[in-house]
This record gives sequence, structure tokens and C-alpha cells, in this order.
Amino acid sequence: MFTLGNVRLQLLSDGLIWDDGGGAFGLVPRTRWEKIIPPDEHNRIPMRSDSLLIESAGKRILVDTGYGEKLTPADIERLSLQGRRLRQSLVDAGLSPEGIDIVINTHLHADHCGGNTIYEDGRIVPAFPRAEYWVQRLEMADARYPNERTRNTYFAENFVPLEESGRLRLLYGDTRVTPEVLCIATPGHTRGHQSVYIESAGQKALFLGDVATLAIGMERLAWVTAYDIDPMQNIETKRRLGRWAIEEHVLLIFMHDPHIRAGYLREKDGWWKLEPVEL
Ligand SMILES: [Zn+2]
Repeated sequence: MFTLGNVRLQLLSDGLIWDDGGGAFGLVPRTRWEKIIPPDEHNRIPMRSDSLLIESAGKRILVDTGYGEKLTPADIERLSLQGRRLRQSLVDAGLSPEGIDIVINTHLHADHCGGNTIYEDGRIVPAFPRAEYWVQRLEMADARYPNERTRNTYFAENFVPLEESGRLRLLYGDTRVTPEVLCIATPGHTRGHQSVYIESAGQKALFLGDVATLAIGMERLAWVTAYDIDPMQNIETKRRLGRWAIEEHVLLIFMHDPHIRAGYLREKDGWWKLEPVEL
């Protein structure tokens, strides 16, 4: 747990997976990325899956919900998913699913919203029974009507039950959550991707989501993942956010990087360099 002015923040683990390095590094040759995150003998790299718990203005806000608990044993084996899962992490933090007021999904890829829903008596229901779920309208539209490229990660069971139970709130671009928390549209990884900005008592932080899956992605703008739907737009999103983070001293929080949870971006001799911070 750490604080930012009057806001309490906590990264909650949903475990660690091993994924092909070509996913996270896209067109970057392995000879360049293997020095940064060495792969295993199957060319896989470890990736964290963390959610952010925000306590602000009397609200408990959970940003992203990990892979969730509807995975089959085959899914878990394919991902080599290991470690403490989100619901256990919540309990370990002294909370329960009933304690969450708002769930924000940065986007609806399965590793960000799989925990939105759970099985209960053979039905799929919202996993956070009191919460309202906030998603960008454009993201919901793309998830509802996927194509051949996107349908392998947009699973209706992760978001349709929210609509059916009346718990879904669609956002039309930047939207204030509390006086200290703001959803901001950050397109590129998906068209409807959003990040979450926190500002309190002059201190600032940005939970990036998949704007930069790995921290190196904020140092090297051309390094975008193979999963980005519009990589050119994501590069421009990173340029805009990175410049702003340097000027405004914004703490950048990463949810997948196996080594770097957060850091400040600095400019030196025309290059951007991330200075990691221990949370
Ligand atoms: Zn994603």
C-alpha cells in the first residue's frame, strides 16, 4: 500500500504468466529485447497481472480484474499461470468483493476483465456484487462485435452479464470518478482503451493499462506489442503521455512488467529513461 496525497493505492496480484516474448515485443528483434527481459528455453517471458485498488473520497475503486476464475485447467496450464490470484489478494488486503464500489476496465481483453464475473450456481454473475463497472463505450462496441483478429480475447462472459444485471456504465471519453481520480481515453492498444489518472495534494500518478505493457515501451516509443490494434496511434498516445509525465512529474504505474512496477520518466540528452520506484 502507498499513498498519493489523500489517496490510498495498492497493487493487487492476479498471478504471473509466461507468454511468448514475440507478443510483448512485436517487431523488435529478439537479439535486442532478450537483454532486457531474458526468455526461457521456450522463448517465453514472465508477465505480472496486477490490478490497482484506489481508495479515494470514500470510494473503493478496482482497476482491471485479471484473468479471473472461469479459466479451465487447460487455460491455466497454457498460460503457466501461477501465484496469488486477485480475490485472494483482496482478502489478504483485508477486503472482500462486496467492498468494491466501482470496477474500471482499462479495456476488455481477457487478462483485464476475466475477473469481472464468476460462476455462481451454474450462472455467470458479477464478481463484485455491489460494484458499478465502468468501460468506454467504444471498447464495449468493439468487444461486442469482434472480428477475426480480436475475437480470441473478447469473451462475452466477461462483460455481457454486467449489462444484463444493469451494472455496466458506458463512458464517452474522459470521465471523472472522484475529485482525485479520472478515466482518460488512451487509444491505440485498443480503440477504446483508457488509463486512470490520480492526483491529490499535488502528487500525480497514471495507471497505464496496456498503453505500455512493459516499462521499456515508454522509453522506446517504437517498441509496441504485437497485440496493439492500432500501433501507430499507440505510439502517439505514448508520446503525448510521456511528454506530459516528464513535465508534470507523474508516477507511471505498470501492470504487466515483471521487474518494474512504477517509475518516473526523465529526459536526458534527448532520450527518455525510466527511473524505477519501489512501491
Ligand atoms: Zn490488452
